Amino acid sequence: MQNGGHLQPKQSLRVGVIGAGAAGLVTARELLREGHRPTVFEQGTRVGGVWVYTDKVEEPHGDVGQAGAVDERVHSSMYANLRTNLPREVMSYTDFPFTQSWGDPRRFCGHAEVEAYLEAFAAAFDLEKHIRFNTPVLRVTPCKDNCRPSTSASSAADAGQNGHSYGENASGSAASDVAVGMSQNGLQNGGNAGRPEEEEKLPWPRWRVTTTPDQDQGDPTTSGEEVFDAVVVCNGHYSHPRRPELPGAAGFPGRLLHSHSYRHNRPFAGLNVVVVGASASGEDISREIALVAKKVYLCARSWQNPAWASETAAPFRPRGNIWRRGVPSRLHPDGGVSFEGGERVDDVDVVMLATGYRYTFPFLADARIGDAPIVIVDDNRVSPLYQHIFPPAAAPTLSFVGLPWKVVPFAQYELQAKWIVRVLSGRVSLPSQRHMLADISAFYASLDKEGVPKRHTHMLGDKQWEYNDWLADACGPDVPRLPLWRPLMYKIAGDTKRAFPETYRDEWHETALIAEAAAEARTLGA
Ligand code: FAD
Repeated sequence: MQNGGHLQPKQSLRVGVIGAGAAGLVTARELLREGHRPTVFEQGTRVGGVWVYTDKVEEPHGDVGQAGAVDERVHSSMYANLRTNLPREVMSYTDFPFTQSWGDPRRFCGHAEVEAYLEAFAAAFDLEKHIRFNTPVLRVTPCKDNCRPSTSASSAADAGQNGHSYGENASGSAASDVAVGMSQNGLQNGGNAGRPEEEEKLPWPRWRVTTTPDQDQGDPTTSGEEVFDAVVVCNGHYSHPRRPELPGAAGFPGRLLHSHSYRHNRPFAGLNVVVVGASASGEDISREIALVAKKVYLCARSWQNPAWASETAAPFRPRGNIWRRGVPSRLHPDGGVSFEGGERVDDVDVVMLATGYRYTFPFLADARIGDAPIVIVDDNRVSPLYQHIFPPAAAPTLSFVGLPWKVVPFAQYELQAKWIVRVLSGRVSLPSQRHMLADISAFYASLDKEGVPKRHTHMLGDKQWEYNDWLADACGPDVPRLPLWRPLMYKIAGDTKRAFPETYRDEWHETALIAEAAAEARTLGA
């Protein structure tokens, strides 16, 4: 079959997807469209990921979390009153408009509305039958030898039958110059279609996915281990708090919390609260807390930003009890907090860290090719990854969707997924491992040169649109670039938010772009 200059056989692979949030859902949809066979593993009971609000928290405080079990991991970081910081139109996937309302018609809607949108997406593409709920993935490892994909949901990892093994370039011994695409490796028709002589040459790993901690306690109809031709990791990265060390924290008598455990402002009534981190959550939470707290100090490295000079000198709205400060330089045993810049405040009851989240892939801890781990996370850089997606040593059968941040996520996830599924089917090739590694090194060098800290490796911001165009182009001519109304709407939302942080959600005056989004929705039949 010829496609965009590539002569490739089309292949249908059995693909494990980890997570049924916005990334996992669209990945499953794209896999199905390309003729692959996805199985989505979801540790929770519903689709939606972070948008599935829960009262439970890992750090109980005030009346929050006291009733729920607190000794379990809580995935969601949503708080009760959260409203989106983007207009719903721009949050949509490309062909499933977010114009309809499920009870909250506001343009910047609440979390339940986004969850309803994702549920509707799953229903529209009949995805639920491919999802296994209550099924945390515990371990993903490359099959060193003798493994073939399981053929049904209930089949065990039927390793050991057909004797194929890695080729050279997956062993990690040397980067190959051969372009990476499934057509290179003889993996066809699910990878075990009775062509053992080709499978002998298979250079790309398959993956053993383990979901049951103890075989004895597992559901007797499954062994808890299955083998997949490929795995796509969509486990989200707004769930595991990043907690920078604060000098003096051990002796500080007040509460130290992370915004992951913030649900509502009631526990903060009458208190003095220091909120560390002034990105989206820090700004929103500090305003919400200030409605009931005595005083709030909103701290950020960028506190000397000229735009905030007046807010540093004097309190600002909504109740005139929020001040901007530098990041805390020390917490004191008497309840005081000193800030960068030398100032100190006394009687602080709570320090709330709105300092973001960590990438973590515990299920990949044992995933090595040769002696090397497939990816490492160092200071929130997940490396090495080609285009934030493919680890060269394991490409294309291991990939990641949804790592970039400061982006408009859903449509970008969709483009990432479209590229992955085309590479898996052989319609599109990746460059050689050597090329991918060189590209990654050049990317890291460019970040160093620009002075971008390592922990911002996956922060795209304004570069997201160029990245999205790159992905669309990589997919081939059947995938158009995102229309211009999307970046324009994103920019206007950002500008308005900066200018009117308290009211921007309810005062959207730009109608031409909304009309354009609506017209596009109509052409899609919504
Ligand atoms: P998630 O939604 O986190 O989904 C990951 C899924 O993987 C979860 O269902 C989880 O249970 C599952 N999972 C994880 N590990 C395993 C495992 N080992 N085994 C099985 N399942 C597993 N985006 C916007 O567009 N607009 C906004 O206004 C906005 N506001 C936000 C506000 C907050 C407070 C937060 C935290 C995020 C916000 N986002 C917003 C970003 C949001 O995270 C993305 O929109 C998107 O929903 C992330 O989707 P995801 O699928 O990558 O991750």
